[in-house]
Amino acid sequence: MNENLEAMYKSLGISEKVFAYGQRIEEELKERFAFIDESAQYNQLKVLHAMQKCRVSDIHFASTSGYGYNDLGRDTLEEVYAEAFHAEAALVRPQITCGTHALSVALAANLRPGDELLAISGKPYDTLEEVIGIRPSNGSLAEYGVTYRQVDLLPDDRFDLEGIRAAINERTKMVHIQRSKGYQTRRTLSVEEIGKAIAYVKSLNPGLICMVDNCYGEFVERTEPSDVGADLCVGSLIKNPGGGLAPTGGYIVGKKAYVENCAFRLTSPGLGKEVGATMGVMQSFYQGFFLAPTVTAGALKGAVFAANVYERLGFDVLPDGQESRHDIIQAITFGTPEGVIAFCRGIQAAAPVDSFVEPEPWAMPGYDSDVIMAAGAFVQGSSIELSADGPIKPPYAVYFQGGLTYEHAKFGILMSLQKLREAGIAKLPGE
Ligand SMILES: *Cc1c(COP(=O)(O)O)cnc(C)c1O
Repeated sequence: MNENLEAMYKSLGISEKVFAYGQRIEEELKERFAFIDESAQYNQLKVLHAMQKCRVSDIHFASTSGYGYNDLGRDTLEEVYAEAFHAEAALVRPQITCGTHALSVALAANLRPGDELLAISGKPYDTLEEVIGIRPSNGSLAEYGVTYRQVDLLPDDRFDLEGIRAAINERTKMVHIQRSKGYQTRRTLSVEEIGKAIAYVKSLNPGLICMVDNCYGEFVERTEPSDVGADLCVGSLIKNPGGGLAPTGGYIVGKKAYVENCAFRLTSPGLGKEVGATMGVMQSFYQGFFLAPTVTAGALKGAVFAANVYERLGFDVLPDGQESRHDIIQAITFGTPEGVIAFCRGIQAAAPVDSFVEPEPWAMPGYDSDVIMAAGAFVQGSSIELSADGPIKPPYAVYFQGGLTYEHAKFGILMSLQKLREAGIAKLPGE
């Protein structure tokens, strides 16, 4: 048994040269990683404090069935979320099926016919187009008489304050802000910038409800949008806050009245938060939330590592190797279909689950080009787990995120580089 790290990597298919290159990059990132670890430490304490304050106990992990009346675990977990996000209330449920659903609930619950929704960070995430009715869709907000207006970010990705002022009218009721770039090429917004935009919106009309799509942003910084004035903060539990353990679910935190509206929309008017059995998922929700700060830090280090590995080989990376991070997504542009495919095959080959399958581009519903995806996840579609996907169209970029541990993310990135090098697409410095 060779206990040497390089030999271990070699036995899993990473050549000496790729390994050595990775070690060099990692060495240079020490300070950066220390900063990320310190934020994880801060956020770990924040979550711990919330759990202690809410007196979390093992009775809270018990399963409930049927209506789920008096589900102590569920109610206490919602207090924990509210506490950790410094918000008045929270809705954290396995009945929220995904991030899109959570956002859809938050919007539909707080808008009424005749109201207008104003997006101020440009076009929302793809799946929200049908929720809002930007693309006509059955059951959209548009069908219920809710209109929509959008103010794009300025060319330098700052909020367009003039544009926002001009767009707000007497029907404007809610403001949508998306923290993460999602699969766009803009910058991700920092919590600080979001706070300034919210303050500006409130200075124009303090009654406007500011909702932040917080997907992929949780625990990346030490503050959340709810710390800087967001009335509602929304996300998915199979991303950062589920810590990789939550098998499904979503959350909404914010002002009590707005969160309560969400509960009435999610379950039923009159029932609200009182119903919703948790069927045994509570322990994973609590434990996942407990792990979320360090899991997110691992994913973040993986993203920074990937940016530096590929930037130095001459590929376009967004964010770049140096800039500050506000979400866990990393885009890398390869410029050719072969590059995208080789990268995704490397990520897949490094997975704990389904490492033996070879991803192929396919015509996924809802996309206008073939898409290739790599995911070998314990939870289907979980993107806090190491995953990558890329549309097979110019500029031939892959979006890469996650990694339950930095160690796994690192291995995945080295494996992708290994595949790219074998295919003759990437050359190491000096080759
Ligand atoms: C992931 C994500 C969503 C929600 O997506 P789901 O796949 O429905 O969970 C919404 N907005 C952004 C920015 C996202 O990254």
